Amino acid sequence: MPIRVLPPEVADKIAAGEVVERPASVVKELIENALDAGARTVRVEIREGGIRQIKVQDDGSGIPAAEVPLAVRRHATSKIATAEDLEAIRTLGFRGEALASIASVSLLTLITRHREEATGTRLVVEGGRVQHQERVGHPAGTTVIVEHLFFNTPARRKFLKTPRTEAGHIHRVVSHYALAYPEVRFTYISDGRVVFQTPGSGRLLDAVAVVMGKEMAAQMIPVGEVEMPWPEAPPNPRVWGYVGDPALHRANRQYITIFLNRRWIQDYKLSQAIVQAYHTFLPVGRYPVAVIHVGLDPRLVDVNVHPTKAEVRFRDPRAVFAAVQKAVRAALVQVHPVREPRAEVHWSQPPGWAERRQSLVEAGQGSQQELTLPVEEEPGPLPVSRDPHPETNPPLTSPSQPRGKLLPLLRVIGQVGATYIVAEGPDGLYLIDQHAAHERVLYEKLMAERARQGQVARQQLLTPVPITVDSELAGIVAEHAAALEASGFEIEVFGKDTYLIRAIPAVLSGQDPTRVVEEVLRGLAEEKDVTGDTLEERLITLICKRAAVKGGQVLSDAEMRALVRELEACETPHTCPHGRPTMLHITAQELAKLFGRL
Ligand code: ADP
Ligand code: MG
Repeated sequence: MPIRVLPPEVADKIAAGEVVERPASVVKELIENALDAGARTVRVEIREGGIRQIKVQDDGSGIPAAEVPLAVRRHATSKIATAEDLEAIRTLGFRGEALASIASVSLLTLITRHREEATGTRLVVEGGRVQHQERVGHPAGTTVIVEHLFFNTPARRKFLKTPRTEAGHIHRVVSHYALAYPEVRFTYISDGRVVFQTPGSGRLLDAVAVVMGKEMAAQMIPVGEVEMPWPEAPPNPRVWGYVGDPALHRANRQYITIFLNRRWIQDYKLSQAIVQAYHTFLPVGRYPVAVIHVGLDPRLVDVNVHPTKAEVRFRDPRAVFAAVQKAVRAALVQVHPVREPRAEVHWSQPPGWAERRQSLVEAGQGSQQELTLPVEEEPGPLPVSRDPHPETNPPLTSPSQPRGKLLPLLRVIGQVGATYIVAEGPDGLYLIDQHAAHERVLYEKLMAERARQGQVARQQLLTPVPITVDSELAGIVAEHAAALEASGFEIEVFGKDTYLIRAIPAVLSGQDPTRVVEEVLRGLAEEKDVTGDTLEERLITLICKRAAVKGGQVLSDAEMRALVRELEACETPHTCPHGRPTMLHITAQELAKLFGRL
């Protein structure tokens, strides 16, 4: 065949393939046009997953009658004029190809009236050919109806999934814009049913509550200055939004939503920054929930990487990564990971209970020595003894501010299944996982030692113990010598693949050194790509796991009290270093509810 220029309909169809992959892509483009037109209300209505019909209605500027035919022409746009404009894009669209592309593969009806014109225009395009144009009445704004998508591209049509799946994709798209533009009222209707409607209040949390559910919204932690008016994008990344309480973890990254200058983006690195911010807050292999906005000078990012614009390229990706991680981490560390109940229900107490409880708590101090958990050396100061003038009843009168601590004073009641400690606090019942709790206690202790002395306290072995390891583990010993040393190990090369263990971390004293070292090395072998401080933290986590009291071990009352006391003194008492919860808290209110008292 000779070379020839393709007829415009064919070229359009090819271009359409890039922009319009499925009904959700149509919805995305139409919503973006509505937002670019300054709409305050956007109504999205679909039928049969958008395959039969998509209708997007807005109250934006509308299109002047004279420009309507241009709107559906390829590379016709009102948003940029010169190549320089591409350097700093401030609208969602700019390529001028969405309406043309959509029109080339569907039956498209555009009804619009410009704010300053008296009558509107109705334009019908079928498979890229304008069928007719007429003057009609229409409120200021635009309605676009797209029917019979891909009717003339059977190959594409075949790739469409069931209406349900396509509707699912559309749901995601509308949700993203609702979260990106909380000041816009979004209504989403599928097959005649209102799926959701945002209030358009301008408060991100209101949109989160509608899109993700009230329950989830109630467990979100604000990041940065959330409810500020939407700022001009600054030169340095500004990060704000909401992240889920660590208790809200999910099996995949799907609940991490990131917006750059209000554009939903897919960026593995940035979602990784959020995941990393949850380090030690979440169980391994679990992911947080997050709605994070990044504001950045548009000149510092290229959104013109792909026609769908979900991928962007930052000029300084590391700065953006660091800003996101720092902001999320700061929010998490600041906020108590387990929420105090908001309701004003108090644990009712019999007369004299408070005094009795206080004396029980104090009695607990004296038995510290009976402790047989491997935590003996210099137990930290007890939280009760820190306060020289204990108020008569402090935790009971101010349950949400347990003297600036994250955990109120707890009274140990007993042990369940040789695994959980049952305790009572000023507002309800606490079930504590003894292993997780002990891991947390040891972790903070070792981290503090490392910070204070540059290394974890070690226990010299009376006679060095030889150990032979396979080549993988030998490689680990060599590679991580410094981290091992800082964590309390002294391991010396003795021969090929043979080492002498001279010291182990003091918390592990009494344990079989060979097994300890082997287990720690195996743990390290799984921590690929981790270096520096993070690696040492992981190493310490491994040591704590090994050293902590196990589930299934019967504890004496004194041991339980000592453990709970030390947990109370922790900075982050609610999760173990792997991020699993150390405790369940059943509030007085929840108990009252369960017993039908409320
Ligand atoms: P782009 O958004 O990249 O400019 P489109 O093909 O999506 O390209 O739209 C072409 C033009 O049509 C836009 O530049 C805009 O001027 C006009 N337009 C499209 N949709 C709307 C709308 N909902 N309200 C007002 N104008 C619109
Ligand atoms: Mg557009």
